[in-house]
Amino acid sequence: MTDVERRVALEAIAAEVRACTNCRLHETRTKAVPGEGDPETEVVFVGEGPGFNEDRQGRPFVGRAGDLLVKLLASIGWRREDVFITNVVKCRPPDNRDPQPDEIAACAPFLRRQLEVLDPAVVVTLGRYSMGTFMPGARISQAHGTVRPVDPATGAASALVFAMYHPAAALRTPAIERESYADIAAVPSALIDARRRREQAPEPPSEPEAPETADPAANAGTLDPEAAAGPVSQPAGTDAAPQLTLF
Ligand code: URA
Repeated sequence: MTDVERRVALEAIAAEVRACTNCRLHETRTKAVPGEGDPETEVVFVGEGPGFNEDRQGRPFVGRAGDLLVKLLASIGWRREDVFITNVVKCRPPDNRDPQPDEIAACAPFLRRQLEVLDPAVVVTLGRYSMGTFMPGARISQAHGTVRPVDPATGAASALVFAMYHPAAALRTPAIERESYADIAAVPSALIDARRRREQAPEPPSEPEAPETADPAANAGTLDPEAAAGPVSQPAGTDAAPQLTLF
């Protein structure tokens, strides 16, 4: 897919999101929040759902949690424009309550289609609800800072998922904020692992009768076991942090 095709496809999804009435959240939203970022990025951040400021502006992570996300990104030398940022639900739950399972399910096709278009190498989940989509059954207290292969059924055909706490939790609890800085420091090396894994993966099957080993799902277990075992540490200040625009 070319850059222009990606942009057009993402804008088509965004237009559907803005017109969506598939769940009750459309009744109370001011603006839907489809997501935004670099269509050519290798890294997608997925939060929970829009809050007050996001609902007003129609843009993800523009409030206090967004400010912290920008600082976390800056700590590894990245900017929000370098990645794509979206949420599991695209409309604000009233009073910032947790999104309900039927709301997440109603919105899931939008996230899946965004991931199909973006084809990221790494999906970074922000908080429990996002993690639940990409690491079902995981507990955030144990899973934060760790990577796993992503189930291609999510739309990300060949990606690693990296779990983080939600920035709003980090704003409430200084220890979680410290852990969030430690966690995001490992994202660049997760990206390097993800790139290596994608380079090693066989080309996707071009014919329906392709052998089973060419199925991307069959490669889901090829992650470097060291990376799968736990957090990958990335010493601060090294030049190993991949430049998202240089690849
Ligand atoms: N919290 C989220 O999960 N998403 C946003 O876009 C903003 C705050």
